Amino acid sequence: MPRTLRGVAVIILLLVLFPLLIFTVYEINGLSAGESFVAGVYRGQLDVVLFSLNQFAWNVVNTWASTAENGWKPSGNRGTFSPGFTEKFLGKNPAIDAVFVADSAGAEIFSFTERPDAEIRWLGGPGSWLAGERPLIDKLLALSRQNYRKIEPCMIADSSGRKGVVVLLFVLRGLEGVPALAGIRLREERFVQDVLAERMREAAAGEFILSVVNTSTGESVYASEEGAAAEPEQRRQLWLFPDLAAGIRLKGETVQQVAQSRVRRDLVILLVLDAFLLTGVWVVFRSVRREMEFVRLKSDFVSNVSHELRTPLALIRMYAETLEMGRLTEDGKKQDYYATIVKETERLTHLVNNLLNFSRMDAGRRPYALAAVDLNAAVKGVLESFSPHLRSEGFFPEVTLDPSIPAVRADLEAVQEAIINILDNAVKYSGAQKYLRVATGARPEGPYVEIEDRGRGIPTEYHKRVFETFFRVPAGRNPGVNGSGLGLSIARHIMEAHGGRIDLQSTPGEGSTFTLVFRNEHNTGH
Ligand code: ADP
Repeated sequence: MPRTLRGVAVIILLLVLFPLLIFTVYEINGLSAGESFVAGVYRGQLDVVLFSLNQFAWNVVNTWASTAENGWKPSGNRGTFSPGFTEKFLGKNPAIDAVFVADSAGAEIFSFTERPDAEIRWLGGPGSWLAGERPLIDKLLALSRQNYRKIEPCMIADSSGRKGVVVLLFVLRGLEGVPALAGIRLREERFVQDVLAERMREAAAGEFILSVVNTSTGESVYASEEGAAAEPEQRRQLWLFPDLAAGIRLKGETVQQVAQSRVRRDLVILLVLDAFLLTGVWVVFRSVRREMEFVRLKSDFVSNVSHELRTPLALIRMYAETLEMGRLTEDGKKQDYYATIVKETERLTHLVNNLLNFSRMDAGRRPYALAAVDLNAAVKGVLESFSPHLRSEGFFPEVTLDPSIPAVRADLEAVQEAIINILDNAVKYSGAQKYLRVATGARPEGPYVEIEDRGRGIPTEYHKRVFETFFRVPAGRNPGVNGSGLGLSIARHIMEAHGGRIDLQSTPGEGSTFTLVFRNEHNTGH
């Protein structure tokens, strides 16, 4: 690798690949942390749902307490519910199975209504129960004196000792001087089913499964979805009912699975991005390498062309000077000198033409005068004008022309130029093997011209590149032959401009066959 290219590689390595590697390793290392973080976030969300459920339950009982307060009509240091209030209150809220108001000492009951089908009955009224809740009542009274109304749920045992009933106790204000105590007795299962169930269905929104279980018996009280036996992901006690807990889980997957699949997806995205980046880096690196190679070829080209120009010029000058001095007397010798001068001039013309054509072609400005061209006649023309050169180099080409091939629509001069470039190479790169075969024929896609030599051949890895502008097979494998690297690139340009192509078959040491394949006229669209 040349030094500058190595520099580019090091810069890419330091700027892109190294940070990329560190970032990727860091991300992969942090995967499990990321997973528990995501899981934590999900759990937090589940918690919020449970919290709002608890909040909702509180709002409901708060509203009930206010309704009771509004329905209470104090008079003097006693009072009564407005007529029909308790019936309506119990009728509207099936979870409530008793309401009472008593003086704060619990000695006198002002009002007591109990549903006849209540699960537990206070036959003698709530008096004896109240007596057992003295400390709680004192606390509520103290808070009430500070103008703070608190609702305190207290669990009571039913006759079978099974818990499941809650009394919400709060202080009623408005009585002159003496505060009164109010109580709302609730059946927790009915509360869950009548009040919370709808809310839970809403909150589940098809995404979660919400459930309520009795923590002391382990029985399920409610689930937002039938047959949802799976353990909830998060579980929180209900503030109102200390023996009930609400649970929540994701539908279908566990939070762990969701977190895992999210993190996996992130990882896949990361790896895909890595792959893109690496491909990008590779593309950039390759184009830099090509560009640098091209720059090198170009500078080789300048020195090659200078060399190509200098050799014939030196020869012409030498022979012309000798002739000018008039020292040559032998006519045969003179003739030889003139022939050499003509030959070298032709070489120069050929080179300069190639240069001119190349620059026009490169700028896309080479005009082609298309007409019906008989390839056999074109080949014959080239061979005629080229034969003195061929003969002087020791070549006597084997020519087989297929008279039945169709004419092609082409620029005769350009086609001949392509053939000359290839013939010229065959002569240049044949060494001692003076074999040359020129043939025409037809393939299904169109007629062709084939030129075969048995020279040094071209290594397979260069079969594509020899058609690139300025490219020459490296000097080590191409010793002693001058060239500009333009000949084949021009020939390819010409063939492509005609809708055709050049095929190359070559084995190093055995020779090369170049085939100019044209397109059938009816395919060319002209
Ligand atoms: P150049 O001016 O170097 O001949 P070309 O574009 O005509 O440039 O050819 C490119 C390279 O392909 C040559 O430098 C040579 O290495 C190789 N090449 C072309 N024709 C032949 C051939 N007939 N036999 C062996 N090598 C060839």
